[in-house]
Amino acid sequence: MRWSWQFAKVAGIPIRVHATFLIFLVFVFVALARGQSTAVALETVGFFLALFACVVLHELGHALTARRYGVRTRDITLLPIGGVARLERIPEKPSQEIAVALAGPAVNFLIAAVLLAILLAGGGGRLLEDPAALQGNFLARLLAYNVFLALFNLIPAFPMDGGRVLRAVLATRLDYLRATQIAANVGQGIALLFGLAGIFGNPFLLFIALFVFIGAGQEAAAVQMRSAFEGVPVSRAMIRDFRAIRGDEPLSRAVELLLNGHQQDFPVLGVGPGTVLGILTRADLLKSLASGRTDRRVEEVTKRSCGTAHPREMLEGVFRRMQENGCPAVPVVEADGSLVGMVTLENVGELAMVQAALGGARARGGGGA
Ligand SMILES: [Zn+2]
Repeated sequence: MRWSWQFAKVAGIPIRVHATFLIFLVFVFVALARGQSTAVALETVGFFLALFACVVLHELGHALTARRYGVRTRDITLLPIGGVARLERIPEKPSQEIAVALAGPAVNFLIAAVLLAILLAGGGGRLLEDPAALQGNFLARLLAYNVFLALFNLIPAFPMDGGRVLRAVLATRLDYLRATQIAANVGQGIALLFGLAGIFGNPFLLFIALFVFIGAGQEAAAVQMRSAFEGVPVSRAMIRDFRAIRGDEPLSRAVELLLNGHQQDFPVLGVGPGTVLGILTRADLLKSLASGRTDRRVEEVTKRSCGTAHPREMLEGVFRRMQENGCPAVPVVEADGSLVGMVTLENVGELAMVQAALGGARARGGGGA
């Protein structure tokens, strides 16, 4: 996440804090120091820091449970509305997703139980007779907030924890895509209620509403894209009618092909039979022309980091590689090294659209199947 800095590393997971969170702390301090006393302001900021330590522990609960299922966490970032643990992927087995989602709130319940034990051991039972003293007690307030955090996160507003549980429960009966769509719709419905409550009550809820509404839409779209490629081999998505270019040819040859409208990106062949060097992208070609280097050979501007795909490989993995490496196209190569096709982001996007349309037609025509 941009505008965030790492300040710790726990169990190999970078813990980052977002600029808006620091601004939030300063805002709380300044507002209270002006209205009340510096001591009250310091105590409140200290309370928020303790609360956000609990949020970090909550996120670590998700991250370490995910690790048990072989899913790594890129980082944990603190925002004013809470924490976000960026898992590399969501475990698709429903039981595992439920365990990962519940681990966060479980940590808050655990913290609350520990705080309760500390309070009782220190004779905190007396606090119950005096509501004002109870409110003023640092540990008692922290306890109450932890219970609140756990319960709030269990509201089934996808992508909040409770919403993930809902999706996973639905996924045990429906297919994953359908389960995600329903959970996202429920999430966005609850987000609208949060929004209304935010307008008439606590403005903080407006931020949460926005976060849930946008997050639900994004995750549903990502799952839809992935599921369109599920079980589809590269051979079904690749272009078979394409032009390749040799690495020792001049760039002017590529320009000629581009202007003829054949295609945007070209697989580049080596000198020997069955050697694919990589891909010449339109962007790299234009960049080289713009810098006035028209005398170069194709192999000098060939992008080699995209690798190749095999015709029987699953499209899902190839698509992920293309996104990660910023590749608009990947050559498809048989085991013997012969070039048989090309996958481009453009034709993959079209395939996703066709699959979605077919899926929609199936859902409507299939009735209650
Ligand atoms: Zn959580």
